[in-house]
Amino acid sequence: MNELAKRTTEALTRNGFKSRYFETADEARAALVDSIDPSETVAAGGSVTIRSMGIKEALAAKGIKLLLHSDASAPEERAETLKRAAVTDVYLSSINALTADGVILNIDGIGNRVASTVFGHRRVFYLAGVNKITGNLQEAFIRLKNVATPLNAKRLNRKTPCAVTGKCENCDAPERLCRATVIIERPTTGTEEISVFLIGETLGY
Ligand code: SF4
Repeated sequence: MNELAKRTTEALTRNGFKSRYFETADEARAALVDSIDPSETVAAGGSVTIRSMGIKEALAAKGIKLLLHSDASAPEERAETLKRAAVTDVYLSSINALTADGVILNIDGIGNRVASTVFGHRRVFYLAGVNKITGNLQEAFIRLKNVATPLNAKRLNRKTPCAVTGKCENCDAPERLCRATVIIERPTTGTEEISVFLIGETLGY
């Protein structure tokens, strides 16, 4: 573990999160699957990290279905999945930016992900590569607007300036992705347990 990852993991623990560090995504995935009981319901927000880690497939091998609204084939099914995903026992999310002093930031368009990470679930697991660590809140906001959102806008083929330029233009585009930002300084009391799995790889945006 490098010095920055060590400092961040320790800071998260000091701030009250259940913080663990893994060198590889494979190790983190195995620990996550091991932590979830087949009796629990599980959902996740949209996340390149979670998809690239093969979490859905690993949970399925244990008989656990991961609810994902992106799996829906029709708008009604998508809306229904979003509702059901808001009240599962366990919620999984990646992180858009993480400060070295242990503060978590996520930015969202629908709002499902930022809402679910602060309320509505018994346990929340964050999964994040070390590429998400920033020096402070100011750098974290720069990351949200000039790295995470432009890359997601491009991936989702959104008609926003950042999808073309890679930089935030504080747009008023109807397809604007960034609509709500949540800063989590300490685990919320509406959730029993918030774990952060920091992974020594580059994962997601
Ligand atoms: S405000 Fe618009 S241009 Fe800026 S990051 Fe959000 S979607 Fe992109």
